[in-house]
Formats: sequence, C-alpha cells, structure tokens
Amino acid sequence: MLKPINSVTCSPALVACQQLIQRFALWLCNPTTTAASINQQSLQPPILASTIEADWLWEFLQRVHIHESLLSRAQIVAAMTLSEKQALANWIRAVSNIPTLFQSTRNLLLVDCPIANKSNWKAFKILMDAFYEKAFRSGLPYLPNGTATAIGGVTYADYVNVFRSMHRLSQHPDAREICVLCGGPLGDTAHVDHWINKATFPTLSVCANNLLLICSICNEAPNKAGKPVHSAGSFDDWFHPYLRPGNRILRPKYVLHQLSVKCSATPLVDKPKAITLDALLNLSKRWTCEFKAEYAKHKDILIRREQRRIQRMDRGHTQDEILSYIQDWQQDLSVSQPHYEVHQTLAAALQEPTRLTAWYCEIKSIT
Ligand SMILES: [Zn+2]
Repeated sequence: MLKPINSVTCSPALVACQQLIQRFALWLCNPTTTAASINQQSLQPPILASTIEADWLWEFLQRVHIHESLLSRAQIVAAMTLSEKQALANWIRAVSNIPTLFQSTRNLLLVDCPIANKSNWKAFKILMDAFYEKAFRSGLPYLPNGTATAIGGVTYADYVNVFRSMHRLSQHPDAREICVLCGGPLGDTAHVDHWINKATFPTLSVCANNLLLICSICNEAPNKAGKPVHSAGSFDDWFHPYLRPGNRILRPKYVLHQLSVKCSATPLVDKPKAITLDALLNLSKRWTCEFKAEYAKHKDILIRREQRRIQRMDRGHTQDEILSYIQDWQQDLSVSQPHYEVHQTLAAALQEPTRLTAWYCEIKSIT
C-alpha cells in the first residue's frame, strides 16, 4: 500500500464472476430450491444471466474438489433448513455490501459464521473456494471486458500477468518488480492475496477488489497470512487496497536516536490506519531491518574508501565530503527500485547534523 494499486484491466471478468457467484449462492438459499432441483435446465436464465454462464456452471459443478463433486456440495446447501438459508442469504448480501462500509462509520461487517451447522458451512465454503481454486485456475466464463464466453475466459495466470505489467515501475524488461504493499522486491514467488480472508468470507474468493499481487513476505506469517483486516467488523481504522488506498498517506519515518523506522501516516487523522497496517504487515520492523542494512552497506563503503586514502597517504574524508557522498547517493535513488522510500528516509536521517557528526566520528574511529 506504499505504492499505488490500480484495478487491473481484466477486472470486469472478475466482477461478472462475482455476480454469477452471488446469483447462484442466493438461488441455492431460495426456499423453493431443493437438492433435486439443481440441474442444467434449472440454472438457465433468469436464474443466471445467460445460457453460456448456466452451461458453464453446470459443467463446473461436475468437477471434484477436495474428494467430492461440487454438485454434492451445492445439494447440501440447497437442502439446508429455511432458517439457515435465510441467515446465509442475509450474510451473502451483507458481504457484497462491503464497499459501502468504507463510506460509513456506522455499519459493521458481520464477522460471525452465519450457519451453526458446521458440515453445511463447510460444504458452502468448499463450493465458493472452488470458484478460485478450480475455475479461476482453468478459466472463468468471461472475456477481460466481462462478456460471457464459452472458451478463452480469463485465467489466474492472465490476472497475474496483467497485474504485474500494470504495476511495473520500470518498463525495462530486466528491472526488479516492487511489492505494492511494502515497497520491497516483489520476488519470484509473488502471491495473489485475498485482502479479506477467503477462509472466513468465501464469497469473496474471486472478487476483483479483494485480490492483489504481493510479495510472499507480506503474505506469509508472521505478517499478513490469515489475519483480519478489520477490527471486529469495523473498517474505520483500516486502509483497503482499492476502497481506501494508503499510498501518499503512508511513509517510513525515522527515529533518529534509535536509528530505526516507524510506519507513519500524514495527515494525523490516518495514524490509526498506519498502526493497524503495521500490526498486519510488521512494516516498522521490516523497514528498520532494511534501513540498518543499507546504513551498514554505506558505512562499509566509506570505511574502505577511507582506508584506501590512508594507504595512499592521502588525507582522510572531511565531514563535508561524507555529506556530499550521502547527497549524491540520495540523488541517484530511483523510485522504481525496491525500498526507495526507506532509502530516502535513511538519506534524510544521515544528513541530520548530529547524526552526520556521529557517523563521521564512527568512520574515523574505525579507520
Ligand atoms: Zn511486500
């Protein structure tokens, strides 16, 4: 979230799939839908929007996911009690209204599991999860612009490629890619993250504004992993990649006496959001590691330069020369390189007069 995050050009396909998932899930919760009534014919319009989608969904339901067919999971949901169906339908509608929760501070996301019967909830979760794990991997029934298609629909690989190309900060093909959340390297093992955890909110498994590509360090424990991105259902103190972006607000801020970095926000009203994001991703800790490593690198460079001067019987560096070294390095920093913001923060910290003097003395004492 340190970097801008843009909706990808194939998002309309994901939006269309989200609508299909919602229509299908609500139809399963309809009191008149029974296990026996799920067939290719019953899915046709007006239940789904088009014949292409109905035929695709029927074929999809024949697939096996986690040992059993998806149709059997849909039949379990359709056979739930009327009260369970009503509770699940209410929950599905509430989750689909998440964008409105970022416009209001009054409403809360329903965080409790809507169905008491664990095996029914499990069947529903597996069915929803399969839209991501099975359908997205092999191809959604939509072209990038959201038009239904029987062949050649958007895949997970398409999404990853489009996200990568839209978030490249350097157009050089060999340039390093940057993680939009932390500003570090995206790396070879980038993950598609569900911002709101799909294990708890399975209807968001293929939701365009719930997906983004981030580095594996951000996505894995002890960082984001399955942690919630709300406080007991409230999004008031939270950024969101698309609905409440943090770029231009978030920044690393140095704490001079500790030579460390804090995840900070300007204006102050956004400070609570920086705190929750920091707790989610451990940005202060990770940025401080990079800050200290880069500091150590430059200290090593200057010590070796100083030693070469001494060997040549030249005079040592003056404090002004050390300042010039920092300023030259700062001017050469590129926004398209990993950790640009942390390195800029370090460059600013090292130019503080007290820090510069301390650094000068440190280099002189070692050499
Ligand atoms: Zn990251």
